[in-house]
Amino acid sequence: MNQGLLTVSYIGATILFILSLGGLSNPETARRGNLFGIIGMTLAVVATLLGPRLAGASNLALILGAMAIGGAVGVFAAVRVKMTQMPELVALMHSLVGLAAVLVGFANYIDPTAHLTGAEKTIHEVEIYIGILIGAVTFSGSVVAFGKLSGKISGKPVTLPGRHQFNFGLLIVTVMLGKVFLNASGVASGMTPLLIMTLIALVFGVHMVMAIGGADMPVVVSMLNSYSGWAAAATGFMLSNDLLIVVGALVGSSGAILSYIMCRAMNRKFVSVIAGGFGTEGGTPSAAAGAAPAGEVVPVSALETAEMLREAKNVVIVPGYGMAVAQAQHTVFEITQLLRSKGVNVRFAIHPVAGRMPGHMNVLLAEAKVPYDIVLEMDEINEDFPSTDVSMVIGANDIVNPSALEDPNSPIAGMPVLEVWKSTTSIVMKRSMASGYAGVDNPLFYKENNRMLFGDAKKMLDEVLNHLRG
Ligand code: NDP
Repeated sequence: MNQGLLTVSYIGATILFILSLGGLSNPETARRGNLFGIIGMTLAVVATLLGPRLAGASNLALILGAMAIGGAVGVFAAVRVKMTQMPELVALMHSLVGLAAVLVGFANYIDPTAHLTGAEKTIHEVEIYIGILIGAVTFSGSVVAFGKLSGKISGKPVTLPGRHQFNFGLLIVTVMLGKVFLNASGVASGMTPLLIMTLIALVFGVHMVMAIGGADMPVVVSMLNSYSGWAAAATGFMLSNDLLIVVGALVGSSGAILSYIMCRAMNRKFVSVIAGGFGTEGGTPSAAAGAAPAGEVVPVSALETAEMLREAKNVVIVPGYGMAVAQAQHTVFEITQLLRSKGVNVRFAIHPVAGRMPGHMNVLLAEAKVPYDIVLEMDEINEDFPSTDVSMVIGANDIVNPSALEDPNSPIAGMPVLEVWKSTTSIVMKRSMASGYAGVDNPLFYKENNRMLFGDAKKMLDEVLNHLRG
């Protein structure tokens, strides 16, 4: 394939990626968006393989071998992973992009065939330095995010005393090492500052994500998504691959926009999230993380729940992480269909940070074929709770916690939540009195008009459905 054809293929792939992102922004066009992405990526890989830079059978054999191994691992992981493990898998994928940027950076630096001189050499070395820096932060940060999301590492923020000074110190040392690296006379002397900087970047990634906890994790997930894009773009600069630069920038900027949206949804400032220590300062946590439940709750049975739903005119269903764990979305849909056939107005209220990844609930509801027009965003439905007869909270907790609005000392103070307690009756479906991801007790459970339906969401909803049918 000649250079001209390669350029055309790359432009085609770029257009397909942009169309893909456009499609993914709406559930109705998401499938098409995904398809555009697959075609674009296939085109990009094939064009790169057949392109002039990779001429040589030995290279091709090596690459195909690596692709077969990587592809097999990817297929295995995709088939095995449960829907609830998706966020962890995504975090792990981000870490691989970061690691790739680090490895490409080092390979580029020690490449014996590179004969750049003067300004070109300096620019290339700057690319290498920055690429490795972003890659290492992305790698270690994503590994810690994976640990936190999978519960292998505590979700609580871990903060060192004087951590801002520590981070600032690391930044200064990184800049100084960069200067030493650029002034080095050869690979042997440049390798030491490069290695030290890599270590510092790894420490920084760990330190940054460890300090972020509780309900701030969604921002970290989207932020690392963005970092992985910039790491890919940096790799594109190192390899002089235009497509990688464009794709990396697309991922980097869309991840940054997503981080902004998540911050806005949580009423948090991006800088204060990144500065970390969520829930550890700015007041004394009142019903502190993991505190014993305070008050009495009114448990109800599946039969009573079915009766309340049958008598209601307006029902709002609030799905959360527990619905994903229980895989209850199909039963939820059956209940929805049945109630709607009896003339009940059933709608869904989606909090932007419900579940464990952006769009988590939308994916589950789309999978269960819930019509999109009854799935509403928080801002669209929050005002309707006072005119709602029954709000059914399925495996959600933090996103319906009134202390976010009522208790300025709460660790989640200021985060907008779905105000289900304003409906005539709210029913919370969960297995126990345990707190949610942010580890905060939930006063909703003790409100007079709240009922608790204890048990696995799928099991309880199956019972509710049976009673509704009966
Ligand atoms: P929460 O984690 O607050 O609550 C989920 C609840 O589901 C738990 O309290 C649990 O209670 C219950 N549950 C678990 N399994 C089951 C089951 N099988 N059947 C019934 N209930 C079950 O989830 P929310 O969706 O309300 O809030 C999301 C939280 O996750 C927020 O704090 C958010 O910041 C955070 N987060 C979100 C990310 C995102 O991108 N969306 C990423 C990372 C974190 P019990 O054990 O008693 O059953």
